[in-house]
Amino acid sequence: MSEFVRPNSKEEFEQNFEQIKPLMNKTEAYYESSRCLFCYDAPCVTACPTGIDIPLFIRQINTDNTVGAAKTIYDSNYLGNTCGKVCPTEVLCEGACVYNNQNVKPIEIGRLQSFATTDTIVQDKKLFELANPNGKKVAVIGAGPAGISSACELRREGYEVDIYEAKAVPSGLTIHGVAPYKITNEDALDEMAYLEKQFGYKVFYNNSIDSKDKIKELEDNYDAIFLGIGLGSTNKIELKGENFNQVYGAVEFIEKLKLKHEGVTIGERVIVLGGGNTAMDAASECARMGAASVKLIYRGSKDQMSAYEFEYDLAKGVGVKGMFNLAPLEITENDGMSNGVKLIQTTYENGKLVTIQGSEFVEECDMVIMATGQSKMVEFLSLIDDLELDAKGRITVNEHFQTTNEKYFAAGDAMNGGVEVVNAVAEAKQAARGINDYLIKSNV
Ligand code: SF4
Repeated sequence: MSEFVRPNSKEEFEQNFEQIKPLMNKTEAYYESSRCLFCYDAPCVTACPTGIDIPLFIRQINTDNTVGAAKTIYDSNYLGNTCGKVCPTEVLCEGACVYNNQNVKPIEIGRLQSFATTDTIVQDKKLFELANPNGKKVAVIGAGPAGISSACELRREGYEVDIYEAKAVPSGLTIHGVAPYKITNEDALDEMAYLEKQFGYKVFYNNSIDSKDKIKELEDNYDAIFLGIGLGSTNKIELKGENFNQVYGAVEFIEKLKLKHEGVTIGERVIVLGGGNTAMDAASECARMGAASVKLIYRGSKDQMSAYEFEYDLAKGVGVKGMFNLAPLEITENDGMSNGVKLIQTTYENGKLVTIQGSEFVEECDMVIMATGQSKMVEFLSLIDDLELDAKGRITVNEHFQTTNEKYFAAGDAMNGGVEVVNAVAEAKQAARGINDYLIKSNV
């Protein structure tokens, strides 16, 4: 049973979606930073995909050099503020902190990171010097974490950078796909505005690159093109009834909630199908929106879910009930409205998941969310000549993040299949360096 009352105002929504990593004040940051042992060969650094010098920035906070701390963070990670909030720190830097070995609470690295960068963003501190213009131009498709990270690095090297974004706001998944209790839209957009001002790239919003002619135009006008397009809509799994009313894709549901907040209507009894982190987010969000019951149904066992354990714990903590070894057979309906999911029990035989005949039953509900993964943008990618995708529809790149069409580089979800924001940021920075090397070598 959910403990939350349906939010009817912005204030009530914010209360239900209280930040799980709230901003520290100066005293808290000072105290927490003083706990750090400033380890040599610190495991927290190795665990960070962007390799931030964590002991250094923590010491800078501790010596009241907050701007220096932010510079240390941004030098390695252009989305330092966002990542401090949305990174699964429990399995990355904080999970590697030496304090875990002594059963002591690890240093709250993510919150310290957000503290230093927020302070710098609010004060609009200038941190970077850009190289003189080198006369070369790069187009970036997508203003998500990968696109923004590549743009920042390229601008530092003196490139003119134009970003083409299909939506009305930057930040990609951070605005459209990350749960509101991890980061607010305001915080995500504040960092975007800060970076745009710091680095001076241009972003063309509501500007979808969706035809061969537009692609050709970019190829004619830019020396290189970076693809930071992310992933598409929720995968269809050909489940009977998935087109009924009150059946939603998890990605679309989460996006609607991020944009409309308390304006989104939630059923009383919700079923979420899936076992990944997106399923956990969707289930948690329904509970926080005041649904009377939220059931998370997964075909395998609890341990086989791909979601991080702490994400499942988070969902359970707000009243979500997990139901395992249950495969959906169809969504049932009454007058075109979904009213349940027909399920069958599963078990493992010789390492294979099999259904148990005769175990079918209907679990009633009035809303279904399908968290069945995100599709790849294969249609768009087919517009680009000689661009190879792997068997899973991911863009194929070499060690410099260059695609099989030498003018194009790629990173982030479209290339790695969908990992974390921090991975997209790290890879995109490498891709920008790949573009730099390529353009210098080929003297384009
Ligand atoms: Fe500090 Fe923990 Fe990193 Fe050591 S591992 S430097 S204690 S945050």
